[in-house]
Amino acid sequence: MMKDTDFTLRDFLAGRIWHREHIPFDTEIIDAHIKAGHIKVISGVTKTSKYFQQTHYFCRRCENEEQARFTTFQCAKCDGPCAYCRQCLKMGRVSVCTELIAWIGEDLVFANDHQIAWQGNLTPLQKKASAELIESNHQKKSHLIYAVCGAGKTEILFEPIYELLKDGKRICLAAPRVDVILELEPRLKAAFPETPIDALYGGAKPSLAPAQLILATTHQLYRFQEAFDVIFVDEADAFPYTADGTLKRAVKKAAKKDAPIHFVTATPSKQLIVEANKQGAISSIPRRFHGHPLPVPRYESLWNYKQKFEKGKLPPKLVNWVRERLDHQQPFLIFFHHIELMEKALPIFQTIDERIQSVHAAHENRKAHVLALRNNEVPGLLTTTILERGITIPNVQVAVVGAEQQIFTKGALVQIGGRVGRAVTYPDGDFVLFHHGISNAMDDARKEIVNLNKKGGKL
Ligand SMILES: [Zn+2]
Ligand SMILES: [Zn+2]
Repeated sequence: MMKDTDFTLRDFLAGRIWHREHIPFDTEIIDAHIKAGHIKVISGVTKTSKYFQQTHYFCRRCENEEQARFTTFQCAKCDGPCAYCRQCLKMGRVSVCTELIAWIGEDLVFANDHQIAWQGNLTPLQKKASAELIESNHQKKSHLIYAVCGAGKTEILFEPIYELLKDGKRICLAAPRVDVILELEPRLKAAFPETPIDALYGGAKPSLAPAQLILATTHQLYRFQEAFDVIFVDEADAFPYTADGTLKRAVKKAAKKDAPIHFVTATPSKQLIVEANKQGAISSIPRRFHGHPLPVPRYESLWNYKQKFEKGKLPPKLVNWVRERLDHQQPFLIFFHHIELMEKALPIFQTIDERIQSVHAAHENRKAHVLALRNNEVPGLLTTTILERGITIPNVQVAVVGAEQQIFTKGALVQIGGRVGRAVTYPDGDFVLFHHGISNAMDDARKEIVNLNKKGGKL
């Protein structure tokens, strides 16, 4: 019988629900801790017969129970038909005979001594929101920070996070998109230099040391269970979080009982506002930190742009727009609704300037191209909605091609426009919607921006 706890193992596993075979520890150590009652073993997929004897599967890792997302296969391990969950397959297959493990031994206690190195100043509105968020933490209630793009929402979180860290709390800052996590990581690490911080996303290796502050894509929360005292969900309205019920459940599962879950976004859904009004609190910030208004989109017709791209031609309005950016040495982003159309358009754009590049979710050079734009090594990028949020490039000018397309919802357009004029040195810029007909979403986005500017201007 083992007496001693392996603290490295505890530090890694506490708060997690992990595939037994994929854990970076020796089998003997795991076995001994199971025997000693420090680790419990959970069946990966449970199988029950409800609903008139029909088999019902439930994934214990991602809590998926949509039956169509399970596949039965002939399993070599359990020597028979076995079902696995397709929802969380990317993290390693979890099937009926898979064993997941969770820590139930001695609790992990976090440090109270932390430092905040951030020395910027908050605007009165940011300060107010920050104080209100701290109050919500005391009351353990959910809080929505509804702040326009460029309001400085990350800075609003610094003081509340610092307070929590000093209380020895474990915190998660989650976002649906990896780009947002990559942008947050260096800022949080700089703000809290003494705090163990881990950033988790597809392909990132978790450190063995216990991180008190975890930055994670919402997908990564499949692997946590009752881990956090507070969770912040940044960009709470972004795809795929809004469309995928298992991600919402993952956030809840990762939170400890009664732990407040906060949301931060510039474009909250109606549902999020209703819920926050009902059970929590809202701080709204209709003004950017530098005090300048949000750029209002202008409309430019671009009739039959698709056919023109198909024929290898660029509409003259687009050529002029790009030339103007090049003449003024302004970095630019041109948003497309579809990868294929964008890739067709790229070589035509490159006839104006061969350095122009494109990015999309699966693009292997995505990070490098964005960095190159930031460093003025490329003049501009064509992009899908993948860059609609989370990125800040001083003096960037933005165009949307085919703004009438369905993918450009009101929220998406507000976010895209939010890329413009973020820096105090360049608080303005061009935000143009090239279209083949004006959609309701375009008008709604413009109305919202005008309204927010009115509200912000009165403050
Ligand atoms: Zn699953
Ligand atoms: Zn099996």
